Amino acid sequence: MELFKIGFLNVTIVDVFDILLVSFIFYRLYMVMRGTVAAQIFVGLILILGFSFIAQASNLKAMNWILRTLTDIWVIAFIVLFQPELRRLLILLGRNRIVRSFIKLDVEESIEEIVGASAELARKHHGMLVVIVRSTGIRTFVDTGTPLQARISKALLVSIFNPRSPLHDGAVVVHDRIIEAARVTLPLSQTSTIGDTVLGMRHRAALGISEQADVIVVLVSEETGKISITDNGILIRGLTTQELRHELYTRLSLMPQKSAKSVWKILKSQQ
Ligand code: ATP
Ligand code: MG
Repeated sequence: MELFKIGFLNVTIVDVFDILLVSFIFYRLYMVMRGTVAAQIFVGLILILGFSFIAQASNLKAMNWILRTLTDIWVIAFIVLFQPELRRLLILLGRNRIVRSFIKLDVEESIEEIVGASAELARKHHGMLVVIVRSTGIRTFVDTGTPLQARISKALLVSIFNPRSPLHDGAVVVHDRIIEAARVTLPLSQTSTIGDTVLGMRHRAALGISEQADVIVVLVSEETGKISITDNGILIRGLTTQELRHELYTRLSLMPQKSAKSVWKILKSQQ
C-alpha cells in the first residue's frame, strides 16, 4: 500500500511503521544508556550505521565495503565491551518469574537438610558456607573444588564442615538435591565492610558469588555461631533457624519481581 513518493522511493505504511519502530528502539536504548560510557559507544555505532546507509544509497562501493566490515567488527566489539552487562541481563532474565516457571527446581527438598545442618553447626561454632544454585550454574567455580556429586543430607553437611574434615575449607555447592563439590573457592566481594563491621573472608566470598551469579548462600560464622544468607549482593545476618527456613523457602520458590526499570538501574549502577 503506497502512501507517497520521495523521488524514486515508494513509501508504504510498512516502511513508516518500520522507521517508527527502529526510531523508538534506538530512542529507548539511548535514554537508558544516557550519561554512561555505553552511550558514547552507542552513538559511535549509530554514526557508522548512518554513514553505511548513505554510502550504500549513493553507491560508494569502497566506502561501503569499509563501513560494512566495520559494522561486522562492531557486533563482536559490542559483545566484548558489554560482556558484564549482557551477563547481568541474562542472570536477571533467569530470575524472571516467567522464565523461572520453566525451570523446575528440586532444591526445596534440600532446604530442610541445609537448615538442620546450619542449626547444628551454629550450635557447635563450626563455620559453614553453602552455595545454593538457582538458575545459572557456576561451573567455573565448582571446578576449583573437590567434586562430590553426593545426595544432600544434614549428616553429610555436618561432616564436611567439621573442622577436622579435609573438606571443611571453602564452600559447598548444592544444585537441586545434589552436593556438587566441596572446598570450592569463591570470588571475593569488593565490599569489605558493612557499617562498622569488617567482613571476614567467608562473608566476602558469600557476598561475592551472590553478586556474580543467581545463587543463595547460607553461611554459619565460626566466630559468632551466627547464621546468615546472601542473595543478589545483599547480606542478611543473625537469622534464627525459623527465619532461615522462611527466607530459603520464599527466595527459592518465589523470585524477586524486577521491573524493567530496576534492571536498568542495576546495569547503570555498575558503570
Ligand atoms: P567467620 O565468622 O566464620 O570467622 P569470616 O567471615 O570472619 O568467617 P574468616 O574467618 O576469614 O571469615 O573465614 C575463613 C574461612 O572462610 C576459611 O577457612 C575458608 O573456609 C573460607 N573462605 C575464605 N576465603 C574463601 C573463598 N574465597 N572461597 C570460599 N571460602 C573461603
Ligand atoms: Mg573470622
